[in-house]
Amino acid sequence: MSTNSDITCGAVAPLLAARVHARLAGEDAACVERHLGECAPCRATSRALAVAWRAGAEPGADLWPRLRARMARADERVRLRLPPVTWPVAAAAAAAAAILMIVPEPARFLAACGVL
Ligand SMILES: [Zn+2]
Repeated sequence: MSTNSDITCGAVAPLLAARVHARLAGEDAACVERHLGECAPCRATSRALAVAWRAGAEPGADLWPRLRARMARADERVRLRLPPVTWPVAAAAAAAAAILMIVPEPARFLAACGVL
């Protein structure tokens, strides 16, 4: 979605993760804030990124290895006798369902996370 601000959704998407990590400053930060003030889908994406980051799932190329490590630690705690592949598949399905429910444009969110 394009808005009346001087930056488009496509240009904002790669900056949202930096904004969540407070690594955005100057004119980039001002442009993103103006855009978020006008664009509900990008606000929703930004909120979803913040939730994922607070949950320890910082978007990036190492997202899946870190999720797998977290799931392995959780698996050790509960000591369930399920096949090892079960937890990653269930977690991926739950994450996909959450993204589809929270994010109006899941493909853009996944692209911002570096998944697509
Ligand atoms: Zn937007």
